[in-house]
Amino acid sequence: MKIDIRSLSEDELCEFFVKKGFDSYRGKQVYEWIWKKSSYTFDNMTNISKDLRLMLDENFVINHIEVDKIQKSLDGTIKNAVKLFDDYTVESVLIPTQDRTTACVSSQVGCSLDCKFCATSKLKRMRNLNPDEIYDQVVTINNQSLKYFNRPLSNIVFMGMGEPLMNYNNLVRSIEKISSDKGLNISQKRIVVSTSGIPKMIKKLADENLKVNLALSLHSAIEETRNKIMPFSSKFPLNDIKESLDYWYEKTKRKITFEYIVWKGINDSIEDIDALVKYCKSITSKVNLIEYNSIGDQDFQSASPNIINLYKNILEKNKITVTIRRSRGKDIDAACGQLANKQ
Ligand code: SAH
Repeated sequence: MKIDIRSLSEDELCEFFVKKGFDSYRGKQVYEWIWKKSSYTFDNMTNISKDLRLMLDENFVINHIEVDKIQKSLDGTIKNAVKLFDDYTVESVLIPTQDRTTACVSSQVGCSLDCKFCATSKLKRMRNLNPDEIYDQVVTINNQSLKYFNRPLSNIVFMGMGEPLMNYNNLVRSIEKISSDKGLNISQKRIVVSTSGIPKMIKKLADENLKVNLALSLHSAIEETRNKIMPFSSKFPLNDIKESLDYWYEKTKRKITFEYIVWKGINDSIEDIDALVKYCKSITSKVNLIEYNSIGDQDFQSASPNIINLYKNILEKNKITVTIRRSRGKDIDAACGQLANKQ
């Protein structure tokens, strides 16, 4: 079977050419085509001879994504259904605001976690995405941003389908490609990795020397409540998460963001707010309150705006930075937690 040429590093590609009796710099040229220039065919590679292109064709394929369907929301949000080489589909979203364009990308086909409030969790995990499949989503959205908004992509969030820290190696490799001057050259500081909280992997990421930001889907600082809505988390007690986040801060000096949805009857009491304040005070952190996007499950309903404001006021009184994330793209099921390949 032919190998996917994008699974090779630049050095490996150069070695391949040398082994075949060609100059090593051919490897650099081809590497530039498959990454920086996003070429999906060998035929496009006009600075190398026809014979060489044929030779490449005999040895390799270029696996790549294809946008199967585009949906546009009234608020400008664009959702892409993206087909992978083996016919699986994932979704990625372009979110425009006044001064930025954010790409929300997927890291896995489906998800192995079981967050009760998230549509993706109903899909089960089929497989991890390869680094090039993550990279391609970003390239696609960058092109759409240029086309529809006349500006390049400015931010990237790993908040699409999947748990990025359960596809760790490919996540890191995709970040390296996205930020490399041989790739998209987007600063790592503009990337947010969102995790549901896997302590061991958080520490590993802290050791990586990347400049990315970390967000953690907390949703409750009361163990029992959190375990009910995110059952997998019973393996990862809040204390272990805290320890890993302390380690993250010590290593990176970057504040972690807690993502937090407020639901009626689940985490809308004063005890819930107090627990969050206490947890936040013990960790260098800020809070992003997220508007809940319905996935049609009666057990989960957004809390009233009064409660959300109460959260905000009490957190602020305790000198904890709070932002509120309004949802975007709801009309096309493109908002957080709604990615489930419905189309
Ligand atoms: N697995 C990672 C990244 C994907 S989820 C994580 O859990 O962080 C991205 C964000 O969307 C998370 O904060 C998640 O908790 C949130 N989310 C999931 N379902 C949602 C819903 N129905 N409404 C609003 N946010 C949701």
